[in-house]
Amino acid sequence: MSTVTEIFGTMVFNDSVMRARLPKEVFRQVQRSMKDGKRLDSSAATVVANAMKDWAIEKGATHFTHWFQPMTGITAEKHDSFLSPVEDGRVIMEFSGKELIQGEPDASSFPSGGLRATFEARGYTAWDPTSYAFIKDNTLCIPTAFCSYGGQALDKKTPLLRSMEAINRQGMRILKLFGNENVTSIRTTVGPEQEYFLIDRNMYEKRKDLIYTGRTLFGAKPPKGQELDDHYFGTLKQRVQAFMKELDEELWKLGVMAKTEHNEVAPGQHELAPVFTTTNIAADHNQLTMELMQKIAKKYDMVCLLHEKPFAGVNGSGKHNNWSISTNTGVNLLEPGDTPAENAQFLLFLCAVIQAVDDYQDMLRLCVASAGNDHRLGANEAPPAIVSMFIGSELESILSAIERDEPYGGTEKELIKVGVHVLPKFPRDTTDRNRTSPFAFTGNKFEFRMLGSSQSISGPNVVLNTVVAESLRQYADILEQAEDFELALHDLIRRVIREHKRIIFNGNGYDDSWVKEAESRGLLNLKSTPDCVPYYLAEKNIALFVRHKVYSETEIRARYEIKLDNYCKVLHIEASTMLDMVWKDILPAASAYSKSLVDTALSKKALNENIDRSFEEENAAKLSTLTATAVIKARALEDALLEIKNFSDSLEQAKFYRDTVFSAMNELRIVIDEMETHTAASYWPYPSYGELLFSVK
Ligand code: ADP
Ligand code: MG
Repeated sequence: MSTVTEIFGTMVFNDSVMRARLPKEVFRQVQRSMKDGKRLDSSAATVVANAMKDWAIEKGATHFTHWFQPMTGITAEKHDSFLSPVEDGRVIMEFSGKELIQGEPDASSFPSGGLRATFEARGYTAWDPTSYAFIKDNTLCIPTAFCSYGGQALDKKTPLLRSMEAINRQGMRILKLFGNENVTSIRTTVGPEQEYFLIDRNMYEKRKDLIYTGRTLFGAKPPKGQELDDHYFGTLKQRVQAFMKELDEELWKLGVMAKTEHNEVAPGQHELAPVFTTTNIAADHNQLTMELMQKIAKKYDMVCLLHEKPFAGVNGSGKHNNWSISTNTGVNLLEPGDTPAENAQFLLFLCAVIQAVDDYQDMLRLCVASAGNDHRLGANEAPPAIVSMFIGSELESILSAIERDEPYGGTEKELIKVGVHVLPKFPRDTTDRNRTSPFAFTGNKFEFRMLGSSQSISGPNVVLNTVVAESLRQYADILEQAEDFELALHDLIRRVIREHKRIIFNGNGYDDSWVKEAESRGLLNLKSTPDCVPYYLAEKNIALFVRHKVYSETEIRARYEIKLDNYCKVLHIEASTMLDMVWKDILPAASAYSKSLVDTALSKKALNENIDRSFEEENAAKLSTLTATAVIKARALEDALLEIKNFSDSLEQAKFYRDTVFSAMNELRIVIDEMETHTAASYWPYPSYGELLFSVK
């Protein structure tokens, strides 16, 4: 096997490849355009395109594609061949600068939330030179943004790049005030930890619910679930090990620094964490990771489930978004420093995040809302739906001492004047790391833990970048005007702590008492997607995104529509799949089994008239009752689906799905799951939970 260093980045058109293959001047131009986002001029683009093509062909590529991220949350590509015919019937391999810079996929097949109607039908893709081109499946993939000709973002990358620009703008104002002469830009960094399930492919293919919806819609509790906690950090099964090895290698080739892999709490559940990188690259990489997981699993006769809740009663899957801000000089701005000035700066950035999370709890909750994630957030599973923040008891005591102008410290208690005193050392990565907090400070970064496993990380990072940019903007406005900088800084930090400390909660987020406590603090508790979505249109949120040029109002409205539409569609597909399973497979199976029970009961009676009530008779009676109930519940679900046409407003429709359709689904499931426990395995049409969860040997 080749070593990591040998294969790392071999399929990436990165700086070292560019340095080797591009003329110095063009290389410099590309570097500049990566830094400031300016377009390459067309002659330089032609040179880059040619170099890319030659490199790609040497690596076996035959096609190229603009790789983009429409609002479906997954990636899209339209392959074109490098082949170009010449006069005498021969072909040459071509790739022009124009083809590199801009593409025109058919925008009509992607969700636009009405943007297309308002603007232009066509959309175009534009090269994002800040994320390297790479080769996948013999295709040169060029990361691109996807916009309408009216300039409206039709994708997830465009707003992400805009939000990075926004936090750069505001953060630089702050850094100037602290006299950081060498810093010319800041960027946010992300390391997303990805959870997923692996199950056997044969089992998967026998379950319509997994095939159509990515989760099981029925399934009685297995005799053994995750109660023994014996899967977590347990030894890896051979097939899983082989899968992870290949996954690692393929990711390394693409320049993704996959680092740690281990089992998760639930049987069949695993996690992959990469080393963090610049946010938009991390977003690209996470998409690639999810894609490769699914592809490589198939090679090992497994299926990778990325759904947030594939199995009821077993932990679901999430994604932990580790987020920080760093300067182009390599300083992590969320790392406490050693000097008073560094510490003051750290405290201000910390405050910016605290205020942002408090002011925009709604947006943070909203950006992770989906039908799939609703099964986790607010549904008795990690983490709770209430957005709060953990900063550790040590840091909290420091903040509270600053707020109250009280001395802090061990034996030699000291008054901490921001900007004058060095912060007392507090343990980085403290052992009291709180696992239940949706948003935790972990020493030099924040970990936003509410993301769903299948979700693109772009949306949540758009929100994070923008809300923190807003705090920084407000601080810069104040501090730039201040006569006495240090005094103004001290007062500002104290005020922010006082006004926003309600968002800080270091206790157990699963406690019922926290729900009450959070309510008394005035924190939001948005339980489901339809509860969250209206916050898109809250005046303060529209103003925020428009002010920082991250979304236009039209773009926000489009996202509002898309989120609701997606929610309704997912529930509709789930409900329809349930009905299909019930009518076509489950009830016929139950009836066949009942018949065999009745037949046996009759023959037993024939043999021995005195037999009282046989097991068969009893069970057939039980099944007959359950079947009757199942039919009633299934009809109720059908009726609910018929009622949907009465709602024209998408929010009303989504609420109806949640309140009526979803509860009808749950009622149907209860009966069917009970039927499963009374039916012989040989008759039940689907693999059981036990078979699915422990299917990978
Ligand atoms: P843990 O103890 O939770 O495993 P790690 O330090 O291993 O903590 O980090 C977990 C994730 O956080 C990794 O993906 C890592 O790359 C990422 N991470 C670490 N530092 C940063 C940072 N400054 N910015 C963004 N992500 C980071
Ligand atoms: Mg984590």
